Amino acid sequence: MRPMLVDRFGRPVDGLRISVTNACNFACIYCHMEGAQPTGREEQMSPEEIGRIAKVASELGITKIKLTGGEPTVRPDIADVVASISAVEGIKDLSMTTNGSMLADLAYELADAGLMRVNVSLDTLDPGKFKFITGRDCLADVLDGIEAALDAGLRPLKLNMVLLKGLNDREVWRLVDFARSRKAVLQVIELVRAPGVPEGVFERYHAPLKDLEAQLVLRAIRVVRRELQDRPKFFLPNGAEVELVGPVHNTAFCAKCRRLRLTANGKLKLCLMRPETLDLIGPLRSGASDEELKAIFRKAVAMREPFYKPAKDPNRP
Ligand code: SAM
Ligand code: SF4
Repeated sequence: MRPMLVDRFGRPVDGLRISVTNACNFACIYCHMEGAQPTGREEQMSPEEIGRIAKVASELGITKIKLTGGEPTVRPDIADVVASISAVEGIKDLSMTTNGSMLADLAYELADAGLMRVNVSLDTLDPGKFKFITGRDCLADVLDGIEAALDAGLRPLKLNMVLLKGLNDREVWRLVDFARSRKAVLQVIELVRAPGVPEGVFERYHAPLKDLEAQLVLRAIRVVRRELQDRPKFFLPNGAEVELVGPVHNTAFCAKCRRLRLTANGKLKLCLMRPETLDLIGPLRSGASDEELKAIFRKAVAMREPFYKPAKDPNRP
């Protein structure tokens, strides 16, 4: 049995979310990547480096890796990144969060490289609203990408919808139906005032999930709470599945957080909402041994706080 990383508060850590680039081909109005420093060519981790980090992480008991960004698919070598991780023994769940715009061309290549499943961001089915939210007029490409991902076997496919007041909050049931028709799970995400979100966006577009939750409770035939995070999942009579992803300031969310993050420039980040990082890629490039890299992982886990406690609640104006 592989060793488990466990923090001071008894939380096991078995997930790693790797940002493979800060670059993106969209400009979503709410994106918390807005303030991220672009990753320079020499700063960006190579597929081999990411594979080595995945191996070290796996030997410490990490079994789930999610690739994110920026937009992972803008990296021309993204299939190599996937292949370098899928070659690592012990990774049981290898997934990617993507805006889906390039999946029509890439889904089979990514599946062949070992990607198991994808989350595709889809806030609206209205082309005009899609353009307004993402800055790109390419809803049709994303829909094609979703079909390609399903054909390539990247399942279960999840659709990520950020709930936005006055923009898509009346469209939830249309997206529920669309997700059901594609046998996908719809994740409705509450807008977060994370570091990097443009000024004023939260005040203008934030919509709490509680009204939707009340409607789902009335319609659902079954509700389960996932072990990994405090996310209720609703099973509707017509077969639709809807998950609600609440804000990170929620202590119940933190109490079940089992993951670390790796930034696109190779730093371990202890929490999405906190600034602390530990450099991993610097030591790796200076010739650190696997044991030395494991010590950095252990230090990061030891530094985890019990829950995210901002000076001021970031999700209230
Ligand atoms: N580019 C990829 C995408 O859009 O799916 C991956 C990176 S994106 C930062 C990951 C997820 O975070 C997306 O589902 C996106 O909708 C969500 N997201 C971005 N900014 C957010 C915010 N301020 N509040 C809540 N979710 C946000
Ligand atoms: Fe941010 Fe993803 Fe939108 Fe790009 S596609 S702007 S990374 S949320």
